[in-house]
Parts: sequence; structure tokens; C-alpha cells
Amino acid sequence: MRVIVVNSGSSSIKYETFDLKSLTAASKGLLERIGTEDSRLRHQWLTPAGRWEEIVETRPVVGHREGFSFILEVSGRSRSGSEPPEIFGVGHRVVHGGEKFSEPVIIDNAVLRAIEELIPLAPLHNPANLMGINVMRDLLPRVPQVAVFDTAFHQTMPPRAYHYALPYDFYRTYGVRRYGFHGSSHRYVAREAARHLGVPQDKLNLITLHLGNGASATAIKQGKSIDTSMGLTPLEGLIMGTRCGDLDPAVHFYLARKTGRAVEEVEGILNKESGLRGICGSNDMREIQERAQKGDARAELAVEMFCYRVKKYIGSYYAALGTIDAVVFTGGIGENSALVRTRTCKGLSGLGITVDESRNSAAAGGIREIQTGESRIRILVIPTDEEREIAQQTVEIIERVKGRAR
Ligand code: ADP
Repeated sequence: MRVIVVNSGSSSIKYETFDLKSLTAASKGLLERIGTEDSRLRHQWLTPAGRWEEIVETRPVVGHREGFSFILEVSGRSRSGSEPPEIFGVGHRVVHGGEKFSEPVIIDNAVLRAIEELIPLAPLHNPANLMGINVMRDLLPRVPQVAVFDTAFHQTMPPRAYHYALPYDFYRTYGVRRYGFHGSSHRYVAREAARHLGVPQDKLNLITLHLGNGASATAIKQGKSIDTSMGLTPLEGLIMGTRCGDLDPAVHFYLARKTGRAVEEVEGILNKESGLRGICGSNDMREIQERAQKGDARAELAVEMFCYRVKKYIGSYYAALGTIDAVVFTGGIGENSALVRTRTCKGLSGLGITVDESRNSAAAGGIREIQTGESRIRILVIPTDEEREIAQQTVEIIERVKGRAR
């Protein structure tokens, strides 16, 4: 039996299938450039001999329905005609669950309506997620489909953390508040940290740092999110690949007045032309580090700003939590950039956070600890796996609901 995880974006479909018992990956793929003449699918699968093989194919795909048929056809070919595996459930990543969803849910018509009602809060993501759900429901009508929300993990934040200091009515009428995102990643690394440290999750205080192209920090108290850096949208907080993160709100009005740009244009600049790219022209941290090493001042500034912002969040979440057991680095940058980890933690020894340079720069996969022997607080590097987290939550909710029905 398999569990399928689907992440349906506006022009792409990412998917992964897992073995139900072991929750190890059995196949995965990415279809990109949907809606163009040259949509490209890369489908990979694990052979019985334990090797990953792949098919890469390009063809015109007009929409998501055709996209899923393309994926099914190619994955059928990869099995060379043998029977398709039985599907236990499908877990869909849904970006915005608003205040309605603090847990994964089995999708029915009411859930679909609720996700639709949340479109104003996630106008790019929720409609694309819905397309994936609708097609999969048609394709596998008897298989339970589950929605796992990016925002759900953060629904435990107290009001003092999620309210903005705006007229209260904006919250009541328009839902303006901090929701937070990357929930599956923060939840996954918290779970893995607990497993690695041999401590129950509800006994651990953590600061988790998801540093990828999108980036966010979360304060986790006894296993629950009590604050997070992303807000109403994923624009707030840390400096990201192309998003500015925290900004004086007056910058928007000033820019609009000074440059004559419309609100939508300013929104586009803050989301797509800012962050690392805005400072040094690139949003690829690997390339930025190389340039900085060669003396490129803008690239150096971008790295410095990025790390300084993360450090400020560590300080403020330390204060919010009171005590912490570990700082966790994850995401493409958090997992791979020793330089970013070093600079982020530099000067934090007073807080009990000290990186051991040789452990930090050692090339190693999997979970590792990079603090010195004297460091009071552990510093962990944990590879994230949002798909696996979604698969696990999908299995848990289906089993719970089946258990109740028995
Ligand atoms: P996304 O948010 O799109 O999932 P990822 O988590 O894959 O992004 O992170 C992408 C970022 O990770 C890019 O900035 C990339 O340059 C960076 N990255 C990946 N490998 C390294 C590395 N070895 N050193 C520094 N940065 C890296």
C-alpha cells in the first residue's frame, strides 16, 4: 500500500509516493511549466534493487488535469506494465488554512468550500492546491484525500503573538493576523529533534530555522509553535531569496508616492525583486557565497544581512521561550551553508550558543550536532522532509477517523 503526497502549484505539480508501513519514498516527481508547449516531467522511482531510476519527458500540457494524466501515464510506464500499487490515501499540501484548520482534515465538500473561502488570504496558492485536490478526487474517488495545511502547526500561537497592532476590527472582519507558514517543515524537524535527542516532543523548547529560498523561524515551546516569523502572508520575517521580510510598513507608501507605482507593483517588488536578489542581484546562496569570497561587496552585504536577521530572531525567540534546548537549522541554506550557520551564531556564546567549527564544516548527511562541548544549547542540522511529514499526518488522520468509525 502507498500514500501519495501532492503539492499542486499554479504551474507545477510536485508529488511523492511513500510505502505505507515504512514511510520511505517509493517514487517522486516534478512536472513544471504547465500551460506551455514544453511542460517537463521528471519522474523517479526506486527499483526493487534499491536504485533510483528516472524518466524525463517534455510535451505540451494545457492544464492540471492533463498534467496528472501525464504523470499517471509515465509512472505506469516506469512499472513496465505491472499492476499499480493500492493507494491508502492522498495527502495534499494546502498553503492557507486560516483559523479554521489547526489539524489535517479528510477532504469533503465542506472542506473544499472552506479552502475556497480562504482564497483571498492566499490568492496564488489555494486555487492551485484546489485544482490538485479536484483532479485527484476524480481520479481516485474511493481513496481518502487529506488536506495538510502550512499554517496549521502555528494555530497554537497565543493572541499576543498573532495579533497585529491594528484596529481590532480588521482582524474580526478581514482576518488580518499572523498565520505563519512552513508548518510541515517546522513540525517535521521538531519531531526529528525530539527523536534524535531521545526527549518527548512536549518536553522540548526549540528555535527552528527553515532557511531556503523561502525562510522562516519558529519558537516552539513544549512541542507547540508559540511564535513564527511569517505573518498574514509569507512576506514577513527573515530575508529570503526574493522576499524582503520585515520592513517598515511606511516604505510601501513612500515608494508608491515617490515612484508612482501601483500597490500591485510594489507588492510584486517586495515579493519577487527584493531579499537577497534585491541586495546583490542573485537569490542563489551558493553563488552569493562564492562571489562574497572573491570580494564582491554586495554579495558580502547580502550574506551579512541574511545572517544578522536570523540572529535577531534567535534573540527574540529566546526571550519569548525563556529557556531553549536546541536551535535547529534546516532548508537548503540551513542544511548546507556552514558559513551562514557560523555567522548566524557568532556572538551568541553569552546565550549559551557556540558553534564548533570543525563539526560545522564537516561534510555529512543526516542529523548532526554542531555545538562545542561547552555550548549549553545544542545546535542541530536536520534535513527537512515536508512530503514525508505530510504523508505521516495523512496516515495518522485516516487511521484516527477509521478507528472512530469502527
Ligand atoms: P525552496 O525554499 O525553494 O525549497 P531550498 O530549501 O531548496 O529552497 O533552498 C534553496 C537555497 O539553498 C538556495 O539559495 C541555494 O543556493 C541554497 N543552497 C543549496 N545548497 C547550498 C550550499 N551547499 N551552500 C549554500 N547554499 C546552498
